[in-house]
Amino acid sequence: MSISFDLSQDHLDLRDWVHTFAADVVRPAASEWDEKEEFPWPILEEAAKIGLYSVDFFATQAFDPVGLGIPITMEELFWGDAGIGLAIVGTALAAAGVSSNGTADQVGEWVPQMFGEPGDLKLGAFCSSEPDAGSDVGAMRTRAVYDEATDEWVITGTKTWATNGGLADIHVVTAVVDPELKTRGQASFVIPPGTAGLSQGQKFHKHGIRASHTAEVVLDRVRVPGRCLLGGKEKLDERLARARDGARKGGSNASMATFERTRPAVGAQAVGIARAAYEVALDYAKTREQFGKAIIENQAIAFTLADMKTQIDASRLLVWRAAWMASQGKSFDAAEGSMSKLMAGETAVKVTTQAMQILGGNGFTREYPVERMSRDAKIYTIFEGTSEIQRLVIARTISGAPIR
Ligand SMILES: Cc1cc2nc3c(=O)[nH]c(=O)nc-3n(C[C@H](O)[C@H](O)[C@H](O)COP(=O)(O)OP(=O)(O)OC[C@H]3O[C@@H](n4cnc5c(N)ncnc54)[C@H](O)[C@@H]3O)c2cc1C
Repeated sequence: MSISFDLSQDHLDLRDWVHTFAADVVRPAASEWDEKEEFPWPILEEAAKIGLYSVDFFATQAFDPVGLGIPITMEELFWGDAGIGLAIVGTALAAAGVSSNGTADQVGEWVPQMFGEPGDLKLGAFCSSEPDAGSDVGAMRTRAVYDEATDEWVITGTKTWATNGGLADIHVVTAVVDPELKTRGQASFVIPPGTAGLSQGQKFHKHGIRASHTAEVVLDRVRVPGRCLLGGKEKLDERLARARDGARKGGSNASMATFERTRPAVGAQAVGIARAAYEVALDYAKTREQFGKAIIENQAIAFTLADMKTQIDASRLLVWRAAWMASQGKSFDAAEGSMSKLMAGETAVKVTTQAMQILGGNGFTREYPVERMSRDAKIYTIFEGTSEIQRLVIARTISGAPIR
């Protein structure tokens, strides 16, 4: 078996293609959409026109034989801008919710409807978090009840913090089907476009990633056909029976399965933000003069940049390792997916703060992009599992101890 840290020509081409879009279309629009705090439809349209916002593109990258297609795409796009980046990839994260829990028929039916076509774009949203169930997924209250007479599920509850929530055409919603089984009594459902009873609640005004839409989603006795239960009723009944018998096997609950697949991808987004801020700081340090010399000639500045670059590269290596492991079907015996997201998220916050420091007063203004990058970076210690939850997962996995 061989090992190489060289990217293949296909990966280099992918990186350059996404980078060109990020540099030419995303980065120049970043400040405008951050200020407007609105969903950047025109940029999504540009991404769709070149095939970047499309089911084919994300499906191809998701099946990359060594797993690097998604991390490379994420890093380059989020190097351009994180708010617009999330507006472009939010649907892909929802699609991962369908592909990790759904049957092949369900993936074929719903995922294309999440993307639409240039000129008629669609969005997907993944809705798991609730007002009283963030880190504690077991506290979920949204309830799905099966109506045998009509072969429909009736879903009621309030979801919060949903990326694309309410704007989306397809919502993927997690709900409790058997309250006694806690996380093992949950399932995921597709809510088709225009379903009665689903509405957008509050839209959140955020510290960062402001071009990405985040909102509450209210489900008031939403009725969906039986085929909207991801994985199907038979599989659900088997899983519930196993859980009731107390059997240990049977896999994780619906939300956790989705998060496991998406964590390295989210880590790669954080690497993109950190790299962007580092590059701005490096250029600035070489040209800004104080005391008759470039500020980079001060060891304090140069060593900070050395630390920034080292931590970014270490984060990327952890992300790539976890993505590669997922592609090879390896088990995450030391929670390597969580490690990658923890390291990359913490690095993005640290590096963007260091970049602001290197830019001095300019770093604190909206004339320079590191102020926005620093605001954007903070979400990476919060969503897709906070840093504390990543540490909890890693600590439990490496120790086997019931750490709380
Ligand atoms: C912009 C944005 C977009 C989002 N997008 C989505 C989305 O698309 N879909 C979706 O379902 N969710 C989404 N989320 C929700 C996100 O995943 C949650 O915010 C996150 O999981 C944390 O939950 P919480 O906010 O309820 O915090 P809480 O769980 O209340 O945590 C509060 C604090 O307590 C800490 N804490 C909690 N439990 C423990 C513990 N056992 N040990 C140590 N510390 C602990 C946390 O780390 C955190 O610091 C999004 C959130 C934001 C802000």
